[in-house]
Amino acid sequence: MKFEVTILGSSSATPIYNRNPTAQLLNCNERFYLIDCGEGTQQQLIRYGFKASKIDFIFISHLHGDHFFGLVGLLSSLHLNGRTKPLHLFAPAALKEILDLQFLHSDTHLRYSINFFPINPAKPEVIFKNNDVVVETIILNHRIPCTGFKFTEKKRLRKLIVEKLERDSIPVEYYAMLKRSVDFELPDGRRVNHLDYTIDSAIPKVYCYCSDTMYDERYFDQIKGADTLYHEATFMHDMLERALETHHTTAQQAAEIAKKVDAKKLLIGHFSSRYKTLEGLLEEAQAGFENTVLATEGRTFEI
Ligand SMILES: [Zn+2]
Ligand SMILES: [Zn+2]
Repeated sequence: MKFEVTILGSSSATPIYNRNPTAQLLNCNERFYLIDCGEGTQQQLIRYGFKASKIDFIFISHLHGDHFFGLVGLLSSLHLNGRTKPLHLFAPAALKEILDLQFLHSDTHLRYSINFFPINPAKPEVIFKNNDVVVETIILNHRIPCTGFKFTEKKRLRKLIVEKLERDSIPVEYYAMLKRSVDFELPDGRRVNHLDYTIDSAIPKVYCYCSDTMYDERYFDQIKGADTLYHEATFMHDMLERALETHHTTAQQAAEIAKKVDAKKLLIGHFSSRYKTLEGLLEEAQAGFENTVLATEGRTFEI
């Protein structure tokens, strides 16, 4: 099953040096989940070969413009392109008001419905689940209420050892039971144990998305052991004072967090416009956590 994330924007605050404000597209079993939607997200989707019409779920972390200014444009284009299937939007409650106002004064009547889910910024909770994935909020520490998102793959059914099943002439109609770990007796009296004919499926993977926030141990438990941790790293550590003032994280701190929570891989992003090149941020983070990569535009990472 595919579980991967493509970076559409890596810039904080403003678009600069070919870097776009924050947006990421998560592909989980060919269903698409958009995480944040900074200005220019539509163009980025086109640039990297994705169809916006395939997105059914959108998650907005907070209401700073660099995380949602692309949204009304995207929603409007979906309407103009004839979308009729509902779209699920998880976001701070006030976003509903903002969208309603924009649609009201532009006399836009969407052809599709938006199922709006207001996020509770006070406590982490499961906000969505389907057959592929469970999504929980992560309470971050920013200047305005901000939540990250934790995507946990659902455990798959057991895998059949088809060769063995065929060799022992186990009828195909029993395969579904075996996948579900059910033991049974065949009409000819043979006992069949699922462990003999199946293997366990892969361990579910976890993706944690943490932007924007300052270093705050209260959310560390929730991101513990993440296979891939995206953490903002707006500044280098010589700008710590500025990071604290603006409730952001430094590259050194992002690495410290990844190490502390035993993440397997760290993606850093949300880079300040003061950095024309990003090597310094990468080197600083890698010094504390080796498996760090830059979450820059167009890169896709398998979770
Ligand atoms: Zn931001
Ligand atoms: Zn922010």
